[in-house]
Amino acid sequence: MEEFVYDLESLGWSQSFQTAFERYSLDMCSPGRIAENNGASYQVYSQHGLVAGVISGRLRHEATSPADLPAVGDWVAIAQRTVLGPAVIHGVLPRKSKFGRKSAGRGAEEQVIAANVDIIFLVSSLNQEFNLRRLERYLVLAIDSGAMPVILLNKSDLCPDHAELARGVQDVADGIPVHAISVTDGAGLQPLDDYLIKGKTIALLGSSGVGKSSLINFLAGREMQSVGPIRMDDDRGRHTTTRRQMFVLPSGALVIDTPGLRELQMLDSPVGMAGAFEDVESIAAGCRFRDCRHQTEPDCAVRDAMERERLNPERFLAYEKLGKEMRHAALKTDKRAQADQKKRWKKLCRQASDKARDRWR
Ligand code: GDP
Ligand code: ZN
Repeated sequence: MEEFVYDLESLGWSQSFQTAFERYSLDMCSPGRIAENNGASYQVYSQHGLVAGVISGRLRHEATSPADLPAVGDWVAIAQRTVLGPAVIHGVLPRKSKFGRKSAGRGAEEQVIAANVDIIFLVSSLNQEFNLRRLERYLVLAIDSGAMPVILLNKSDLCPDHAELARGVQDVADGIPVHAISVTDGAGLQPLDDYLIKGKTIALLGSSGVGKSSLINFLAGREMQSVGPIRMDDDRGRHTTTRRQMFVLPSGALVIDTPGLRELQMLDSPVGMAGAFEDVESIAAGCRFRDCRHQTEPDCAVRDAMERERLNPERFLAYEKLGKEMRHAALKTDKRAQADQKKRWKKLCRQASDKARDRWR
């Protein structure tokens, strides 16, 4: 990474950005790409390396919504006023894709959390959390963003019938690549090389615990994110803000991994048990391991609650039964539901190909 030359093409620059940039070129500006956004301060990849950046008063003043301000992945026009001072960001170039979030509390103002993503890895795990409906929601997010989705079904090592499940997913995900992988075993990872194209930007989306950090570490060939059975709550500490939010892989592809993107998983919480077992789920949230099966795992809050008679074992069994049924139903819904699902996916897949297929080839 240290030897990486920040020429614009390697950072994803293209003719359409060049055209959009022309209006700034008279103002002694040069192009840069946002690598990090920490509130008011930015880190920007530029032809002079990584520089600190601040927004110009005018850009801030003229912004009509937070979405007008730079986000990680954005191409911006910067001017270096003094040799040592921060670069001043004068404008944001139109985005070719974006992930947004409606900020709670502040009306319905959209905030952009990642921009100009070419390929989105939708990571899901094949263990007990596998859920086609949830995958569908992520697919909708990906397609809305304008990025090209690729479905990665991780933890194939935990799932003996992973090939069958992957075929089931591919069956509905017409035209969208589906790969069963195991980051731990290294199985199925080779085909991912096709997506790691120099200058293309990748982002990962998926629930907590599916293996996004592990995959990023694998792709980066070294430890970049802390991996482990850390729950989301513990994961939001300050230590997570110190790592770069957009970085370059050895292949030359760029990866965006921001806390905001990770938080998009909140959207999928109503799927699971649909609130029917909130009591059990809130107890299970206290287990040491996120994917605790409440059997022999240490520090299991569920077993503990049963021992202390705070949770009725019968209720726990009912919860387990429903979970099992839901897993099996993930692919094998009844005929009518299956037909509806197929129809929805078909539509989504068509949108994906119309919108973004040409972005990565
Ligand atoms: P993230 O929350 O999506 O970033 O998930 P992590 O990368 O932190 O992984 C969560 C847990 O899953 C960790 O304990 C990983 O070691 C484990 N994990 C990741 N990939 C695999 C895999 O392919 N197989 C198995 N068995 N475990 C995995
Ligand atoms: Zn447990």
